[in-house]
Amino acid sequence: MRKPIIAGNWKMNMTPSETVKLIRELKPLVEGTNTEVVVCPMAVSLFAAKEALAGSNIRLGAQNVYFEDAGAYTGEWNCDSLLELGVEYVIIGHSERRQYFNESDETVNKKVHKALQKGLKPIVCVGEQLEQKQKGVTAEVVRMQTKLALEGVRASDIESIVIAYEPVWAIGTGMTATSAEANMTIREIRQAVRERYADAADVVRIQYGGSMNAKNAAELMAMSDIDGGLIGGASLKAEDFSKVVNY
Ligand code: PEP
Repeated sequence: MRKPIIAGNWKMNMTPSETVKLIRELKPLVEGTNTEVVVCPMAVSLFAAKEALAGSNIRLGAQNVYFEDAGAYTGEWNCDSLLELGVEYVIIGHSERRQYFNESDETVNKKVHKALQKGLKPIVCVGEQLEQKQKGVTAEVVRMQTKLALEGVRASDIESIVIAYEPVWAIGTGMTATSAEANMTIREIRQAVRERYADAADVVRIQYGGSMNAKNAAELMAMSDIDGGLIGGASLKAEDFSKVVNY
């Protein structure tokens, strides 16, 4: 019922020309898939990416957006510009944005609202820190982040949202949550959505992210509540990423 969605977060990697090269390599490797495939290059590579993606089944995503329409916000970019560049998805609240750029639950919520208002689909990231996991508060942390991110969102918009459960300790470290652990936490997230949005919770796609790769993708994707993956390191090589997509 929920179409799997695998998204590559290319972070601050690859120049525009390298982005085009990777997209050209990736296109034939994923063209027959039933999975929704999204790539999220750096903002400055989006124009080149849009041209390279023409005629393919791969969707374009951005890694961030600002919550105002326009104005004196040096260094930021708005939803309208992303839409003009063919962007369909936007990652909001990635843990690296929270850690290095002061992204808070409040700004995440504002960005979710603006993206939805403009017709972009948010990929909202939630996840606990290692210390929180060790203290046994993972469920509370992700439930709270989910509720705060979705605060005030209309039920009719819920199905446009993808949530990425990314335990912070698993991002870029080679450590993954076990498939059972990831599934259990994702069920908590779905339950938090259900408390506000009842049955709409069944249509929200929830990805796992955190050192997901060609080796562990099939096991993670086989879990009942895991609907996809947000992939960092393993999305930077066409062959590796295509193996995740074709899990
Ligand atoms: C990410 O950045 O969202 C991520 C999951 O990274 P990695 O796959 O490298 O852990």
